[in-house]
Amino acid sequence: MTLRAVKGMNDILPDEIGRWHALETVLRRTFELAGYREIRTPVLEPTELFVRSIGEATEIVEKQMFILKREEESLALRPEGTAGVARAYVASALHNREPVSRLYYLGPMFRAERPQRGRYRQFWQAGVEIYGDPGPGCDAELIDMLVRMLTGLGLQNLRVLVNSLGGADTRARYRDALAAYLRPKAAELSEHARRRLEDNPLRILDSKNPQDQAAVAGAPSILELLTPEDRAHFDGVTRGLTALGTPFEVSPGLVRGLDYYTRTLFEIQTSGAEIGSQNALLGGGRYDAMVKELGGPDVPAIGFALGLERVLLALPAVAPAREARCFVAPLGERAQVEALLVVRELREAGIPAEADTRGGSLKSLLRRADGTGSRLCVVLGDDEIERGAVTLKDLVARAQVEVPRAELVLRAREALASAPPAGSSDA
Ligand code: AMP
Repeated sequence: MTLRAVKGMNDILPDEIGRWHALETVLRRTFELAGYREIRTPVLEPTELFVRSIGEATEIVEKQMFILKREEESLALRPEGTAGVARAYVASALHNREPVSRLYYLGPMFRAERPQRGRYRQFWQAGVEIYGDPGPGCDAELIDMLVRMLTGLGLQNLRVLVNSLGGADTRARYRDALAAYLRPKAAELSEHARRRLEDNPLRILDSKNPQDQAAVAGAPSILELLTPEDRAHFDGVTRGLTALGTPFEVSPGLVRGLDYYTRTLFEIQTSGAEIGSQNALLGGGRYDAMVKELGGPDVPAIGFALGLERVLLALPAVAPAREARCFVAPLGERAQVEALLVVRELREAGIPAEADTRGGSLKSLLRRADGTGSRLCVVLGDDEIERGAVTLKDLVARAQVEVPRAELVLRAREALASAPPAGSSDA
């Protein structure tokens, strides 16, 4: 019987990896240009960490964690990155070393959700966390960086939703107001929402159930209940975004699925057939209380997480470009040995190269060269060896030249650096 991958967990095959690498490069470059440094935390954490930070009465903690029991310990595969980074921030006392920490991460996350297009059980997230800066300018700068990054990647039809959940005070008053509004409508709510009504009414705003959505349609807006300090903070964020020319919509119904958010909350969505119903590319917000909750000092924080699969689904698929690599095709017995020397020399000069060691006709070797996606083929025949020469074939331009063996590295480098001819599949 053939074994399959775990449901909702995907292999990323070499054919697709080029798109992943390209996206990861853009992410890292964007974050590093803005002063974020990478942090890598374990994939496995104490279950308690997520219960305390994400919140007990959330979908993630109630239903979606992959939990491992080992001896007395309960461990969970991380469903998101923020809690682990906050734990590491507290454990390493980074706050003692720098007033503001700007960190980023990239890695797989795990949630036992019902798999569908754009929603998986193992998926990749990249995100940043800023510790130590409570100001609204920090929030506006982060959102602006993300919009510019997504636009630069070629994504269109972006919707930037922002909201404020206020601090603990506002949240508590809103919780009561929302519960008071929904209680008389309890009969119209789904069974799940009825339970949430008492333990976590804000989550009902997130419900995908049409009955629940109808019931919350006229609910009071959290923005009306903000304290003057929360209001001033939110106004600072929207003023910053306006000054930066970043388009956004205020969306009072936006709550997102994690309980740790305070004040600013945002989500960036895109539309289009490719992405389907899972249209949120990234989401984030402030979580000013988490560091303290995890035993650290009272340090404010903000962050976001982007789903790499979602972004790749939303980006137009482009034909894979020929790579700047050489395929070395030996014809004859002497050439077989020479080919090994040639690839070694090319690699030592920093040029990716592989040699055919299976043998065959020129036609079959050229077919193999094409199959590897290499831009250049170095053809080595016994008579060329005799003359101290090799033939360089540009597989995109479909042109070839014979060059002295001693100039191989130089000429190969030049050919690989040259632009592919207009009209070729790579132009
Ligand atoms: P969250 O951690 O729930 O705030 O989600 C942040 C982003 O991660 C979303 O906007 C998605 O792009 C991505 N994401 C969340 N859950 C999944 C999932 N199950 N599969 C794929 N991507 C996801």
